[in-house]
Amino acid sequence: MKHIAILGSTGSIGTQTLDIVDQNEDLKVVALAAGSNITLLERQARKYQPSLVAVWDEAKASELKRHLSDTEIRVCAGMDGLLAVATLEESEILVTAIVGMLGIRPTIAAIEAGKDIALANKETLVTAGHIIMPLAQKHQVSILPVDSEHSAIFQSLNGERHNKIDKILLTASGGPFRGKTYEDLEQVTVEDALHHPNWSMGRKITIDSATMVNKGLEVMEAKWLFGVTPGQIEVVVHPQSILHSAVQFEDGAVIGQMGVPDMRLPILYALFYPQRRTLYAEELNLFSVGTLTFERPDLETFYGLSLAYDALDAGGNVPTVFNAANERAVAKFLDGQIRFLQIPEIIASSMEEIFYKEDPTLEEILETETATYDFIESRW
Ligand code: NDP
Repeated sequence: MKHIAILGSTGSIGTQTLDIVDQNEDLKVVALAAGSNITLLERQARKYQPSLVAVWDEAKASELKRHLSDTEIRVCAGMDGLLAVATLEESEILVTAIVGMLGIRPTIAAIEAGKDIALANKETLVTAGHIIMPLAQKHQVSILPVDSEHSAIFQSLNGERHNKIDKILLTASGGPFRGKTYEDLEQVTVEDALHHPNWSMGRKITIDSATMVNKGLEVMEAKWLFGVTPGQIEVVVHPQSILHSAVQFEDGAVIGQMGVPDMRLPILYALFYPQRRTLYAEELNLFSVGTLTFERPDLETFYGLSLAYDALDAGGNVPTVFNAANERAVAKFLDGQIRFLQIPEIIASSMEEIFYKEDPTLEEILETETATYDFIESRW
């Protein structure tokens, strides 16, 4: 029996993780955490009987505590609650499926408590990769990627760890606006941007896919996970989302992983690595796919992706500025306060304005986040 804890159990990755639990009798959920959706969290708690659940919102946590008073399940709130879920003694692996930099502290705490990490929350590596990766090594815990592209790279590197990587081919669907010009994007609505052609995901990451900022965050994530330089990571637009990414080795061999776009496959792989298990889902049928195509990304229209490479080159706290500015800009776009094209504009201005800090500590990362938010609030 493998004991798992999930941060963000009510979201897209969280609920798909629970689907995997439903398909595998030897997975036991011991802790769950969500932001405020206590209706779903209560249903999950009653079904999976974890020993602990956490809710970020204090009032909602009290309400859930009353609802679950007929059970033995402990209910916690706020950051203390997330930390308790991350470090719960009986858990072996933590699935980090919350959105944003809020994931950093619980991830660090879980590593220090010796838990393996099934990492969906890419913001953690983007902003604190220089802290997380050495810490994981020190505590000898595995960071198992859940992002489909990184899982594909991880799978492609199986048995190849000592061979030299020439480059990583990081695939991108291109999102709903592939082929559009900058001018075409002037009038884009929230609804247009939320309409992803291949993947069904949470709202924030769906907007990030439309701007291609998500691919930029993934480039940063790949750098930390696989110890490559930014120049070794090539983004390849592949609209069918069948090749989930690949590795090119020094002899020119390219090894990749293909499958239908279904996040449950990388989640399953992370939870049982190095074993493979049956996934009860649609299988890839190459005859019905027919053609796979590949294109270069349009870095002029989707310049959020170029900004990510700039942030990586600058290093220090600049990836944090990039990430925090994007988080706030996306929230404003979803709220109808700014236009779609202002998202990369806000990221670029923030990268110019916010102070530079080399090798930032966790406190300095969080200070950078606050400074970026304050800057954006003062301007937009
Ligand atoms: P969703 O928005 O669907 O879900 C977010 C989850 O986090 C919800 O359970 C939400 O709870 C919870 N949450 C939000 N705020 C807090 C908080 N303050 N404290 C505790 N829990 C909180 O996001 P996704 O599942 O799409 O994405 C999760 C992460 O995985 C992101 O980092 C994303 O980039 C990454 N990812 C997602 C992919 C996908 O296919 N969805 C693919 C690859 C990576 P509540 O419901 O109560 O608000």
